[in-house]
Amino acid sequence: MTDAILVLNAGSSSIKFAIYAHTNVRSPALMSGKVINLSHTPQFLANGVDGRPLPQKNMMTFDETTTHENIVSWLLGWVEHENQGYTIRCVGHRVVHGGRDYAKPILLTTSIISQLKALVPLAPLHQPHSLSAIAAVSKWAPKLPQVACFDTSYHYTQEPLARFFALPREWYDRGIIRYGFHGLSYQYIANSLPCYLGELAEGRVIVAHLGNGASMCAMKKRQSVATSMGFTALDGLMMGQRCGSLDPGVVVHLVRHYKMSIEEIEHMLYNDSGLLGVSGISNNMQVLQNSSHPHAKQAIELFCYKAVQELSSLVSTINGIDAIVFTAGIGENSAQIRQQICDRLTWLGVSLDTGANTTHQHVISHPDSLVKVLIIPTNEELIIAQETQSLITTQ
Ligand code: ADP
Repeated sequence: MTDAILVLNAGSSSIKFAIYAHTNVRSPALMSGKVINLSHTPQFLANGVDGRPLPQKNMMTFDETTTHENIVSWLLGWVEHENQGYTIRCVGHRVVHGGRDYAKPILLTTSIISQLKALVPLAPLHQPHSLSAIAAVSKWAPKLPQVACFDTSYHYTQEPLARFFALPREWYDRGIIRYGFHGLSYQYIANSLPCYLGELAEGRVIVAHLGNGASMCAMKKRQSVATSMGFTALDGLMMGQRCGSLDPGVVVHLVRHYKMSIEEIEHMLYNDSGLLGVSGISNNMQVLQNSSHPHAKQAIELFCYKAVQELSSLVSTINGIDAIVFTAGIGENSAQIRQQICDRLTWLGVSLDTGANTTHQHVISHPDSLVKVLIIPTNEELIIAQETQSLITTQ
């Protein structure tokens, strides 16, 4: 039997899992898969070590009322049932918010889990899902070591200036700062950059993580200098259901004039806004691209407009730009979105190779482009497995 690490990545619209050999944590995983479209018509897909889809025996019927914990419990049963000669020795989780205290991965204890629960208000769409996954594993195998790997950790290299809000100083001291998210994805891209860029990897790079949740990170020497998400995962880019950056005066106005409750506003900003809110059709980019409705077109245009605004602002934090990397569901798969964004960046010297872009090559910039443009598929699960393995072996 091979000792193995199980990785659980509970996101806002999907739950991904992967199993890696404990002694040899590298891609591809021994087994991997995901449950996608959690809020609509959840669908389960899994692949074996050769990347081929596994037969979907023992399927559970999901619907939008099935809880995250139920889905993870089912997934754990499925992993056990499909066992291909491994013994799970530990579990690594993606946890979105580590607050001020957790700059590194940590072995979970009851008291740490309680501290992570206290951070739910800072990431209401994500933190509860990670906690549900942790709870499901605790019931499945109470003695199994579980490790939390944080999306906030990667941004600890930022200078205080990049983390300040221009609020009275006491709020900075109380932790009202820009934390930044998608750190596991950025860490994977940062580790991969030398492969694609050689020495340029140490230069000025902006990574656009465009999924259902979306953010950008400006890197220098492969470290985070600034990022578009802030105190919560609501700030910055327009997303699937989240509004992104918003004049805070709007919130004050909604409370005072429309008497909206905090819960109503929170729900609107996190669940009813973004692509879904503007289109009135869907949070799913693929669905909008296939729609001929003018509101779908406008939602896509706004998504790209906001992405260009954020990217342009991040360029200033690293004094220029050598490369742009597109990653995550939209960034990796939508040639149309990459084209629409890059068309607005010609002033920076960005020029796409249309053929390379439409066929999703790794390098999609034209040879004459002043800025290299790449597609790098992200792999948060691999980073979680590596961090988990490293922590467990040093215990
Ligand atoms: P998350 O991990 O934040 O839940 P993903 O990174 O899986 O999200 O990205 C999901 C998004 O990617 C959805 O909006 C989906 O429509 C979009 N996407 C996936 N494939 C394509 C495609 N071929 N064309 C356009 N959008 C796509």
